Amino acid sequence: MAEHVRVAVVGSGFGGLGAAVRLRREGITDFVVLERSDSVGGTWRDNSYPGCACDVPSHLYSFSFAPNPDWPRTFSGQEHIRAYLEHVTDVFGLRPHLRFDAEVQRMTWDAQELRWDIETSGGRYFADVVVSATGPLSDPKIPDIPGLDTFPGKVFHSARWDHDHDLTGRRVAMVGTGASAIQIVPAIQPQVERLTLFQRTPPWVMPRVDRSISGAERALHRALPFTTQLRRGLLWGIRELQVQAFTKHPDQLGLVEKLARQNMARAVKDPALRAKLTPDYRIGCKRILLSSSYYPALTRPNVDVVTGGLSEVRGSTLVAADGTEAEADVIVFGTGFHVTDMPIADRVVGADGRTLAESWKDGMEALRGASAAGFPNWMTIIGPNTGLGNSSMILMIESQLNYMADYLRQLDVLGVPPGPQGTGGGRAALDARPSAVHAWNRRVQDRMRRTVWNTGGCTSWYLDSNGRNTTIWPGTTGEFRRATRRVDLAEYEVLRAPALKKDEVTA
Ligand SMILES: Cc1cc2nc3c(=O)[nH]c(=O)nc-3n(C[C@H](O)[C@H](O)[C@H](O)COP(=O)(O)OP(=O)(O)OC[C@H]3O[C@@H](n4cnc5c(N)ncnc54)[C@H](O)[C@@H]3O)c2cc1C
Repeated sequence: MAEHVRVAVVGSGFGGLGAAVRLRREGITDFVVLERSDSVGGTWRDNSYPGCACDVPSHLYSFSFAPNPDWPRTFSGQEHIRAYLEHVTDVFGLRPHLRFDAEVQRMTWDAQELRWDIETSGGRYFADVVVSATGPLSDPKIPDIPGLDTFPGKVFHSARWDHDHDLTGRRVAMVGTGASAIQIVPAIQPQVERLTLFQRTPPWVMPRVDRSISGAERALHRALPFTTQLRRGLLWGIRELQVQAFTKHPDQLGLVEKLARQNMARAVKDPALRAKLTPDYRIGCKRILLSSSYYPALTRPNVDVVTGGLSEVRGSTLVAADGTEAEADVIVFGTGFHVTDMPIADRVVGADGRTLAESWKDGMEALRGASAAGFPNWMTIIGPNTGLGNSSMILMIESQLNYMADYLRQLDVLGVPPGPQGTGGGRAALDARPSAVHAWNRRVQDRMRRTVWNTGGCTSWYLDSNGRNTTIWPGTTGEFRRATRRVDLAEYEVLRAPALKKDEVTA
């Protein structure tokens, strides 16, 4: 038997749980949260690799409506963020709405009934509205390396760490030098016999000023809650001030680049290694990484940095693009996620029978990062061009939750109320007008032209296969908050289900 709900939220990371809290706050309780896994947490459940931690201070990387005075460190580790999300789930009474082991396999718009027909691994649902919060970084990507199937040892991705496989005394190959890899390298280096780092492009790395938050600070935050808000406000404000350098004046980032060079020079004395680790693109073009232990780890005698990336595997021999060979027992891929080709897009079938992936074949685009034309009453949290290079994604998620709440209010107003004896009552749906989606996207792409992500001389996961930046928001989080405060009905076509006649209802 299919369950019919007003709203189906997909995913139970920050986005999905935030949506669930917001729905309850709006007085909506007729909703489910469909999650393919067996617990909440999203990113912070799946990424449990050694050293996994947040790059944004905890007081900013948390919900504004659920401040935590007890964050133990300035930059929290994965286990504390995961515990925080479990706590949010309990405090806001979300458990009854959760449906675990319910992977969405297909959701199809039913134009007659004005609802979504959702097939999951845990059953079928109908929903008037879908809020898709499946995460931009939730489906790991392993590159197609020739000969990988000949490797006799263990292979896994950083986001699916195999904790049953002890790395002590093993020869480990780490492929990739992104945000996860630079946390993993210093965490496992002391334990392994040999660590070979396959680096395609070196990242810019700045020191991470991480410390434990003292008992006195925590007591202050507990006694005077406004001090937590103040702390959050300061962290937010500093990051807002940095945005212009990324979006309009990348030349100003030269000073930051100088500091990053000094950071490297302090830790890496060997000029040959320094040369390998020095990027040839403007800082900020790829995400600036924070670590005070990455460079020191790379100078240890059991670590080799191989440039050019992994190009072939021949049994237990790994071959780099520059021909260097290394023996390994374990390969760890820190090679990122399906970001601009997210698998969920293949599973959403819109009004004209096309999938979202087909509709996005020339690149992802969504009105205000949320609504795609031809996919009525479907919105995504952290959709196209909502990512940030320097601040907390929770700010963007909360902006999108404002938009979601107004969307649902508008739908309520637009629906025709039931007639006498509860009969009739045509429901409404909103479909983003293609002209509004294109106009929004044009504005975003125009602003993108001057940004460091497009002009900094790098290729990054921010860009899609056409070289278009469909992931990053080219402005401040304040601008995005203003742009998503309300749904502008002029940007949508209103669809209505034919109101049922009295005899149809009673028949
Ligand atoms: C290692 C790592 C570190 C990060 N560090 C930072 C940081 O420092 N600062 C920052 O701002 N951001 C960071 N991020 C980005 C992070 O992804 C976002 O901040 C945020 O957690 C995203 O939340 P989400 O709910 O949108 O997605 P996720 O947390 O990815 O949650 C998505 C959920 O959807 C579920 N799901 C996916 N597909 C389906 C399906 N078909 N059916 C049912 N369920 C499905 C998944 O199982 C998952 O639980 C980091 C990401 C990673 C991977």
